[in-house]
Amino acid sequence: IHDFQVVNEPILTYRKNSAERKDLQRALKAAASNCEEIPIVIGGKEFKTSEVRHQVMPHDHQHSIARFYYADKKLVEKAIKTAVETQPKWDRVPIEERLKIWEKAADLMATTYRQDLNAATMLGQSKTVIQAEIDAAAELIDFIRMNAYFLKEATKYQPISEDVKVTKNSLRYRGIDGFIAAVSPFNFTAIGGNLSYTPALMGNGVVWKPSDTAMLSNWRIFNIMREAGVPDGVVNFVPADGPVFGDTITASPHLAGINFTGSVPTFNRLWKQVGNNIDKYVNFPRLIGECGGKNFHFVHKSADVESVVTSTIRSAFEYCGQKCSACSRMYVPESLWPKIKEGLLCEAEKLKIGDVQDFSSFTSAVIDDKAFKRITSYIEHAKNSPNLEILAGGTYSDSKGYFVNPTIVLSKDPKDRIMTEEIFGPVLTIYVYKESELMETMKLVHTSTKFALTGAVFGQDEEFVKCALQEFKMAAGNFYINDKSTGSVVGQQPFGGGRMSGTNDKAGGPHYILRWTSPQSIKETF
Ligand code: GLU
Repeated sequence: IHDFQVVNEPILTYRKNSAERKDLQRALKAAASNCEEIPIVIGGKEFKTSEVRHQVMPHDHQHSIARFYYADKKLVEKAIKTAVETQPKWDRVPIEERLKIWEKAADLMATTYRQDLNAATMLGQSKTVIQAEIDAAAELIDFIRMNAYFLKEATKYQPISEDVKVTKNSLRYRGIDGFIAAVSPFNFTAIGGNLSYTPALMGNGVVWKPSDTAMLSNWRIFNIMREAGVPDGVVNFVPADGPVFGDTITASPHLAGINFTGSVPTFNRLWKQVGNNIDKYVNFPRLIGECGGKNFHFVHKSADVESVVTSTIRSAFEYCGQKCSACSRMYVPESLWPKIKEGLLCEAEKLKIGDVQDFSSFTSAVIDDKAFKRITSYIEHAKNSPNLEILAGGTYSDSKGYFVNPTIVLSKDPKDRIMTEEIFGPVLTIYVYKESELMETMKLVHTSTKFALTGAVFGQDEEFVKCALQEFKMAAGNFYINDKSTGSVVGQQPFGGGRMSGTNDKAGGPHYILRWTSPQSIKETF
């Protein structure tokens, strides 16, 4: 089997006058001056409907960069039929050939199309240059390359054959008979590529509903994969209204799995529909979901204040707190609070919020009007509650783009809903605990929410770290000691959470690909 080099894709820096910066500026100009037509693509054929939608730039919402079309129920059904019919043919393509296609795609993403992917992510999802680069370039390429590597490694395992002259045992890694539905989010271009193309790599037929607010970048991925050699019908590109899509895929007897990243209510809804339809199916559908989080930074009195401040500002406010892993609640001991407060307020004041095309912006706008309303409702709640005090930010405007200033709230009540509900925006809430209540406060971190996605602890004291490893064992799927809760790297920190944060199948880890196979055991007797 073709040998892959497994190293993480280097992150480019975009310094002034660098070649990558010039290329990116060209790509930004081209994407900003165009409104790209994005059809539905089923079995290589393009479709358009009367349900026209636009993807706008969140930081300049009068500016549309893509026009796309919602598939109706009939078209979603057609995509399902196509994926189901294509699956056995695609599964017959040797794994080695599939791996070559993936390697070619990763190379195209790293070179020819890197800046198109970045530009689409910056303009369409309001990511700053560095946030786009770590997502639409590095992480996407890593997913494509490393899942191929993990597949190659997985297939090396073969069962024991005691006497090969008499019997040979083997395990054949097949796709699943049916289709996989991929429902991807706006916040990582890379996740779009991972949710749709990892099941495809394993030999499955896929129906992919990209997010409305990541349409252009996801369309770029689809085209690169086609250019690299993924045959028509293996992945079908089907923008659609969420409930229409969900109802149609879960009504199909051929549903083999759902690969989902999004909200808890949507995943619950899909899960219930699958339960209701269970008698109809030819498979027990695999439900894989990454949902939400209420991620924490927990500070011990032995912590290094400077690193707490920098890590928290980055985790809470980079990409406006719209990473699933973003820190949104923080626990600080009384003795360190004056210094940490001073540091956070000083840093928060310096953050530059603006257009993504200005490369000095630290963050830009939140994704859309719905997000803007949800996030600002928490800010209003903070303004109106006697237990809450806004220390920084608290201001917002949606006149040009959906801008919410990084907001820091102090809470007297660690169970206030601002400390337990997912906000998915640039709002950080802090609870200052008495050092005599260290253990109770640690317990509260876990018991006050149903989420368990990411968490970080800060402390130099070894006893504390040991204790935290025990107390927070179930509180986070990705746990960081003296580092921020965001920024997992494919192959280094496989990503996912437990409890209501998801099924914890660890995207970017070696076992993820195995969720998409239904292996066949073969015993040959001679
Ligand atoms: N893997 C990303 C991180 O650790 C978060 C992924 C997500 O938002 O779903 O920052």
